[in-house]
Amino acid sequence: MIKLFLYFLPLFLFLSSLQVEGASSDLVIEKKIDKVMATMSLDEKVGQMLQMTLDVIGKGPNVFSSDVPFTFDPVMMDSVFNICKIGSIINTSDNIPFSRADWNKVITAIQKESLRATHIPCLYGIDAIHGTTYTIGATFFPQQIAMGATFNRTLVQQCAAVTAYETRASSIPWALSPILDMGRNPVWPRMWETFGEDPYLTGQLGVAMVKGYQGSDKNKIDQDHVGSCLKHFMGYGVPASGQDRTPANIPENELKEIHFQPFVEAVKAGALSVMVNSGIVNDQSFHADRNYITDWLKNGLHFDGVVLTDWGDIDNLCYRDHIAATPKDAMAIAYNAGIDVAMVPYNLHYFQWLKELVQEKRISMDRVNDAVRRVLRLKFRLQLFDHPFTNPNDYPEFGSKEHQRMALSAAEEAITLLKNKDGILPLKSDAHIFVCGPNANSMRSLNGGWTLSWQGDKVDQFEKNGSTILQALKNEFGDSHITYRPGVSYVENGNYNEEDASGIADAVKAAQDAQYIVVCLGENSYTESVGNLGDLYLSDNQQALAFALAKLGKPMILVLNEGRPRLISKIEPLFSAIIDIYLPGSFGGEALASILSGKVNPSGKLPFTYPKYPNDLITYDHKPSQDVNAQNDIQYPFGFGLSYTTFKYSHLKVYPDKFKASDSIRVSVDVTNSGAMAGKETVLLYSSQPIATITPDVKRLKGFDNVFLMPGETKTVTMTIKAMDLAYVDLNGQWKLEPREFILKVGDQQKSIICVK
Ligand code: BGC
Repeated sequence: MIKLFLYFLPLFLFLSSLQVEGASSDLVIEKKIDKVMATMSLDEKVGQMLQMTLDVIGKGPNVFSSDVPFTFDPVMMDSVFNICKIGSIINTSDNIPFSRADWNKVITAIQKESLRATHIPCLYGIDAIHGTTYTIGATFFPQQIAMGATFNRTLVQQCAAVTAYETRASSIPWALSPILDMGRNPVWPRMWETFGEDPYLTGQLGVAMVKGYQGSDKNKIDQDHVGSCLKHFMGYGVPASGQDRTPANIPENELKEIHFQPFVEAVKAGALSVMVNSGIVNDQSFHADRNYITDWLKNGLHFDGVVLTDWGDIDNLCYRDHIAATPKDAMAIAYNAGIDVAMVPYNLHYFQWLKELVQEKRISMDRVNDAVRRVLRLKFRLQLFDHPFTNPNDYPEFGSKEHQRMALSAAEEAITLLKNKDGILPLKSDAHIFVCGPNANSMRSLNGGWTLSWQGDKVDQFEKNGSTILQALKNEFGDSHITYRPGVSYVENGNYNEEDASGIADAVKAAQDAQYIVVCLGENSYTESVGNLGDLYLSDNQQALAFALAKLGKPMILVLNEGRPRLISKIEPLFSAIIDIYLPGSFGGEALASILSGKVNPSGKLPFTYPKYPNDLITYDHKPSQDVNAQNDIQYPFGFGLSYTTFKYSHLKVYPDKFKASDSIRVSVDVTNSGAMAGKETVLLYSSQPIATITPDVKRLKGFDNVFLMPGETKTVTMTIKAMDLAYVDLNGQWKLEPREFILKVGDQQKSIICVK
């Protein structure tokens, strides 16, 4: 018997290796890849490892821009597909959105050309990060930071599924999303693209987004779903200065525990591709880091998908980071580190250089074959060989009322009430409201970047769905109840942070007869280094508007429409109520109006710590030595958010109270709606370890769930965690569960449990 077992052991081990989640590629697909690769020339292989941007093949003054309307340049089409055999294209052209019909024409032509030249379909992708970014009429959801505030996995998955559908309806099979960077430095101009500061929340919602995009079978992505791309692997979100693409210093235990873990979860959930961090971590350009890209990600997680550079990052290794004398040398570094596809994105010389590198044996044929296999695997998984483009008529739900309703309810769940002195909100239906601020009448600021253009600056021109805060308040309270003056306005064709403050006196005058003043402050849209910032306080102009209006002595409500927590500590005392709407998408105006009128009970919770002062930026999972700062220098804590009702927690039960490393721990708690209005409560489960070998974080989120309760109703919320979820990464980079005491905390309830050997 034992002999028989040993005889079959190798087969058993082989089969079980195929079971590893994230490694489960399909043997039928592998055979198809073998067949395609058997006839591929070096040129064809090299072409699959390169990616260009659409403008390169558009007719226009140069490769950087195209004529409007977009038409193909036949010479460049020939160079890109026929000569250089390029396997992937991304982006829109000239930074403007297309209609669905136009997308269909563009993608169909690209696929025909690609198939004619190489018999391999092209992999087309866009940054569909909160909706189908570059398609007119698409549904725009809250940005990730706002989705983080919902703490709602189901909702996040549903919204991603709609984005997938509408992206496929635009004939595009690949979304460069979700972002799993950690929003732990609020200065960083891409904080709003993250789910906030917590790795567990990021991992959970990242997985939900991957499932929503890809559907249930990663080897067979159907025509309603798209491939996902996790970005930006890893540590991109915490540059020391907060400025985009500047160096980050992250101890390796923290890198593993906080920044790597969300990628681990999402790769296990089947994510098909990963984009690499453009920046520098611990003095190493990430694109050159074989240890992290090949050892941690590809080998460590059995990741069989595609690893992609970010925009122009091979050039960056050379011209920005000075670790290569030529772009060709930089290519050798990056591909040998584990890059499969380089987002070039303009320069066709890369084709020749990559070919030479292979011929000179500076990049091995094995490495090339591995990269090409990964690209083809993705194309087969997306079923592009069978369906290189879609028929827009198969997508009747594109931009439907149902999709918009979902975007609205996501915004309603995201919006977070931070202050409500004396229960000033909800406002009475006959209230006379003065509305002002640069964010009051803007669809652009509701949506943020990556909406209909890269910087989101064309939203007001192209977005016809949803309404601004001003319009929504008029619809909710009646035209005659609303008076509006901006007071401060954004200079729409200037830098994102350029403002005109000449209207402050006029606003104060116009506000005199109002009962309430709603001040809509925050930021105009931006992303990446364009949104770099020197001062985290709200702009001087916006603060001046608040101070000027406060002199009227009327109750004021602050609406924050911003991508990162701009500091409000100087003006906070002027307001009776404060609401953070983040970047709630096209239906954020309506969602806010329903919350102000009380039709909707707010339930969002901050997915980050709202700081009070610029020189004390801290996260909730800080060290005990930072506790004093945390008490004094935080405006609002992580997980904070008020409701129009109240919730009480009782009967926390934890089983077992003595556990081993292999155990699961069951936590249950009763939650009661002790107020007068129905509402959703997000239940957060934290752990802490009073004594540990290295100084422990004061607490860490280990579970969350949502519960909807009618007034007076009680429900029991149950969560199960694995004992190993209580482990931390020690200074040798190993996950370690110590046989010591742990505290589990839910609401105001807590229980002590002990890990035994
Ligand atoms: C951004 C990526 C994006 C890529 C393609 C880069 O500049 O960092 O997040 O996916 O452009 O548009």
